[in-house]
Amino acid sequence: MASLFKTPVTALDKIGKKKAALYEKLGIHSVGDLLRYYPRTYEDWSQPYKIADSLEGMPCCVGCYVERVHSPARIRGGMTLLKMIVCDGMDHMTVTFFNQPYLYERFADGGDFLFYGIVKRNGRFYEMNAPSVSDVDKAGIHPIYPQTAGLPTKQIEEAAAQAIRMLPERMNDPIPMEILAQYDLCSLDFAIRRIHFPEKPEDIELARKRLSFEELLVLQLGMAKLKGGRQTTSSVHLLGEDFTQAFFALLPFEPTGAQKRAVAECIHDMSCGNAPMNRLIQGDVGSGKTAVAAAVCYSAARNGMQCAFMAPTEILASQHYRSLTELLEKSGIRTALLTGSVKPSEKKKIYAALETGELDLVIGTHALISEQVTFHNLGLVITDEQHRFGVAQRSALIAKGTSPHIMVMSATPIPRTLALLIFGDLDLSVLDELPPGRQKVDTFLIDSAKRERAYGFLKKHINDGQQCYIVCPLVGQSEMELESAEEYAEKLRTTVLRDCRIGLLHGKMKPKDKDSVMADFSAGAIDILVSTTVIEVGVDVPNATIMFIENAERFGLSQLHQLRGRVGRGSQKSYCIMVSDNQSDVTRQRLMVMCRTNDGFRIADEDLRLRGPGDFFGSRQHGLPELKVAGMSDMEMLDRTQAAAERILRDDPMLMKKEHRGLQFETQRLFAKAGGEQLQ
Ligand code: ADP
Ligand code: MG
Repeated sequence: MASLFKTPVTALDKIGKKKAALYEKLGIHSVGDLLRYYPRTYEDWSQPYKIADSLEGMPCCVGCYVERVHSPARIRGGMTLLKMIVCDGMDHMTVTFFNQPYLYERFADGGDFLFYGIVKRNGRFYEMNAPSVSDVDKAGIHPIYPQTAGLPTKQIEEAAAQAIRMLPERMNDPIPMEILAQYDLCSLDFAIRRIHFPEKPEDIELARKRLSFEELLVLQLGMAKLKGGRQTTSSVHLLGEDFTQAFFALLPFEPTGAQKRAVAECIHDMSCGNAPMNRLIQGDVGSGKTAVAAAVCYSAARNGMQCAFMAPTEILASQHYRSLTELLEKSGIRTALLTGSVKPSEKKKIYAALETGELDLVIGTHALISEQVTFHNLGLVITDEQHRFGVAQRSALIAKGTSPHIMVMSATPIPRTLALLIFGDLDLSVLDELPPGRQKVDTFLIDSAKRERAYGFLKKHINDGQQCYIVCPLVGQSEMELESAEEYAEKLRTTVLRDCRIGLLHGKMKPKDKDSVMADFSAGAIDILVSTTVIEVGVDVPNATIMFIENAERFGLSQLHQLRGRVGRGSQKSYCIMVSDNQSDVTRQRLMVMCRTNDGFRIADEDLRLRGPGDFFGSRQHGLPELKVAGMSDMEMLDRTQAAAERILRDDPMLMKKEHRGLQFETQRLFAKAGGEQLQ
């Protein structure tokens, strides 16, 4: 099939330059690409249903004869309606077409037809609106492709049919025989033919299983190669001396065993070998990742390297800046904060100081990757809350140094399989221990009938000098039923909380205003911080003890866990109150997971199981190549492909053997599309 990737789509009938441009839009350049462009779903016209047996609420194909057709009627707005009564011998159904008056001719003489749509039951009557229609001889299962303007799925289907006819009789299968056998997978030949044109519904499952397996396997192999192919270089910034103990002496607390271990692992990476450090620090919320980063910066700076620390939001960047500066400045380490809202004149000074090497550590947001930033001797790059940054952004910062050491801190605990996959080119340190004295955050699920009582609970703690967060989702989005943060804060002033000092934080505010609200909250000048999810990650105010979350059902579990992680950071007992009026079993079960456990890894597992990693990470922010079939929704499949990938690589790390040539080809293809990272 490899050669078909060199055959342009214009080799197919009815595809000229213009059409080809539309195919380009879908990412299809060659006939091979088209064969790898899989249907989004299918319409099964192969076994027409009786009206009464049709699937509830789902589109399906119904076979009927036309009993009576009304003449097309004009209605408001220039629309035409064509209504007819059809019958399957038992039941009658009203079928309505919009703006297709010409269909009248087709049905005027009656006859048998297939109608594909959703059958709605209305008392004793059935109806179907705007169905697709076809003659009875159109049996079979038809693919529905993701389409684009000017290129309807029908045309893609025709082109795919032609492309299938161009397949060689015996197609090479990239997956070696014994792996196919071991995991009970069909051949590529079968999979490609049947993913486009299944003969029976089971074909789709077989084909999908095989193609997802292949996709995940190729992804794992590619990530493993990225890791293996990491450049060795003679220009590594080596740490001459380890200053960890000196740094620990500066801390107001004793580091946990896990923190010590993680720091030691980083120092080890930076002190020896001929490749720079490339390490992911994973830990549950509150496990103290910042102190680990600070320790590593400290040793790096005292060894004469410059460090850059990038955080996803201004709030976090300034928070890190405050806490790191406090710790490090007394040892003469020179720090600066660089974000979008820093004054131009101040920025200029920072740029200059970075270039001459007068600054040791710069902390900031994306502003760090702006063109004007140049370093004298960038030796260490740290990114916090990594999955918010794309691979490209991380790379842009790294490119400002010569093979700097890299440390990535992940906000969300991720199961190991997935961590290896997503951050496959990084080594892993896990902070699996919380600082001592942390208490479990007691978590409750209530409905709005109990809201007033819960406010009373907040009030009591505020009177004791503690602080609270109230999270209400969204502001400025058009979801009318949800109160915006502003209205919400206003309303609080009419409740038992009216005497409290209420601050407001939302995504539409200027970074500077956000910062000043956060600073006030940090300083204890605000009792209740009403906020949208901008506080989701990283914010650290140990005196805050209650996290109150409205519309909790709207959040993913990992997000809820992050939110809850904002409290329980000091020594005082903390609480998380989730408000939801959603009564569905699924939702309640999901939210109850939060009440049952405080363990971020278990919550992440559950979240992944429920949502699949695609949603888990938000839209394509993980920087992985885009998957087409697998969608990474299947953890079991991930595990299996990981095992298979390990086996293949043990035997043939560079995929040089003849039987792995196909996999090598597919790996190149997948990663060529992803851009950013290049496989060698
Ligand atoms: P996260 O891992 O969520 O980023 P932080 O680095 O923000 O966690 O740390 C959470 C809080 O715990 C901070 O207030 C920090 O000062 C404190 N902390 C970190 N390590 C320890 C420790 N070993 N003992 C006590 N408190 C600690
Ligand atoms: Mg953090």
